[in-house]
Amino acid sequence: MSDEMNSTAELAAGNFIFDFIKEDIAEGGMYEGKTVHTRFPPEPNGYLHIGHAKAICVDFGMAEKFGGLCNLRMDDTNPTKEDVEYVDAIKEDIAWLGFKWDDRFYFASEYFDRMYDYAVELIKKGLAYVCELSPEQMRENRGDLTNPAVSPYRDRPIEESLDLFERMKNGEFEDGKMTLRAKIDLASGNFNMRDPVIYRINRLHHHRTGDKWCIYPMYDFAHPLEDAIEGITHSLCTLEFEDHRPLYDWVIKNTSVPSVPRQIEFARLGINNTVMSKRKLRQLVEENYVNGWDDPRMPTLCGLRRRGYTPASIRNFCERIGVAKTNSVVDYGFLEHCLREDLNENAARAMVVLHPVKLVITNYPEGKSESFQIENNPNRPEDGTRTITFSRECYIESEDFIEEKIKGYNRLYPGNEVRLKSAYIVKCTGCKKDDQGNITEVYAEYDPETRGGDTPDGRKVRGTIHWVDAENYVDCEVRLYENLFDDPEPDTGDKNFLDHINPNSLTVLHNCKAERSVSDNASAADNGAPVSYQFMRLGYFCTDKDSTPEHLVFNRCVSLKDGYKKKK
Ligand code: ATP
Ligand code: MG
Repeated sequence: MSDEMNSTAELAAGNFIFDFIKEDIAEGGMYEGKTVHTRFPPEPNGYLHIGHAKAICVDFGMAEKFGGLCNLRMDDTNPTKEDVEYVDAIKEDIAWLGFKWDDRFYFASEYFDRMYDYAVELIKKGLAYVCELSPEQMRENRGDLTNPAVSPYRDRPIEESLDLFERMKNGEFEDGKMTLRAKIDLASGNFNMRDPVIYRINRLHHHRTGDKWCIYPMYDFAHPLEDAIEGITHSLCTLEFEDHRPLYDWVIKNTSVPSVPRQIEFARLGINNTVMSKRKLRQLVEENYVNGWDDPRMPTLCGLRRRGYTPASIRNFCERIGVAKTNSVVDYGFLEHCLREDLNENAARAMVVLHPVKLVITNYPEGKSESFQIENNPNRPEDGTRTITFSRECYIESEDFIEEKIKGYNRLYPGNEVRLKSAYIVKCTGCKKDDQGNITEVYAEYDPETRGGDTPDGRKVRGTIHWVDAENYVDCEVRLYENLFDDPEPDTGDKNFLDHINPNSLTVLHNCKAERSVSDNASAADNGAPVSYQFMRLGYFCTDKDSTPEHLVFNRCVSLKDGYKKKK
């Protein structure tokens, strides 16, 4: 990890949200003695992504740190594109990360009646009015930094607004014909306070309330009410809501809500080489640039899960990037680093050959076979050992043989000795080629004195390569991934992210050769959860959901190379 990352990690340990909440519940604070209560409020219009994971870790994590509670609330006040599929997927992803909401699962749409009543309360107090400006007219009348907004319906009598608002609700007016606006300050330097619209007419079918409503509350009005109704003490949200906080506080102050939540903003997570807006992710799915929301190249939580990410690696990532008040972009490599650390510790080792060529040990007796016991995971002796077999023929990576020596190459070439990992030292004697000049077999002789890979005379053998017994292996399919986008910022300025999709983001290899242990374990895990391995010298891999005992399929989670470790 780089020094920069180290200091971020330290900052995160005592972050500013933690400090604010601590002050609030301390003696004399605004929530003295109260239980800390947060919420995670996704809009169910897409699958959760790694950015949401950060918010989830902040919302649920902060409650956890204070022994408090966190609600899961579907923010479904905007009735477009909401879908049961998304609701279920959101729950699955949060549960997978390891957070619990118990029975505190809500839909914001459950509060539509109460929100309506709070709007009526504002009208009665002279703090809201029905406005008949069209959206265009409203924009024209918004004013600028030196001129206040103009709002011709502002002084309409309370009785008239009450009557019109009720008739808006009853469906007497067309969509967009009228709005309800909060009466705040037309000259405010904060444009969100220039009599913002809090209700609009919109004849849209709602996935839960059906056609009951033809008016819907605006987010800035609805969100503080949702928080207050649920007794949220701290409403943690992303930075773009900072300028909306005065309106949030205004709504709380001027309605008779049962509690007073405090909004605290933190920076959004951005990661390079990917996009993170649900709309764009949906476009990738719907236009078939990827194979579904859970495509292992997607930054969605279900995509990362299928890619082999563990809940611990993601939570650890979120903890270490910390929370800050300025938006920044985290290197994708750091997310990979967190996964690599976890899998290095916990994944079983296996030997798999991706681009096989046969190696024939010409002095090894035909028909003979022997076996070796090797540790499943050198970092976890408690995980025991596995058996691998060795015989006269094995598969090696085609790139582990060259016909003529080149400087710095320590693997197989005629005359050179190499260690077949954990088995024997072999000396290359040549190869056979087909009519097109392709190498079809490589030949070597083994040294029977080197069983286990050690040289009794202490001679140096520089190269060690992995191999798989050609008499005892399983065929498998392996999918290699690169970044979905070849531009680090596919999404900035006037770029169209679709123009920057990496054409090499997926490579499918067939007929890869895996040691037998891999098929035993992979089919043992029948609960569908990916089983992860370190394929020696190649990286970390996990079983894909397409994998069956008859046809094994592995995804490469991440390569072995680690930019972050090197910097250290
Ligand atoms: P998107 O732009 O991806 O659709 P959103 O903010 O509209 O995101 P919501 O479903 O409204 O998505 O988000 C639920 C919560 O997750 C919000 O509190 C939001 O602030 C937070 N969130 C969304 N994206 C990020 C991110 N990149 N980093 C941190 N928090 C995020
Ligand atoms: Mg949103």
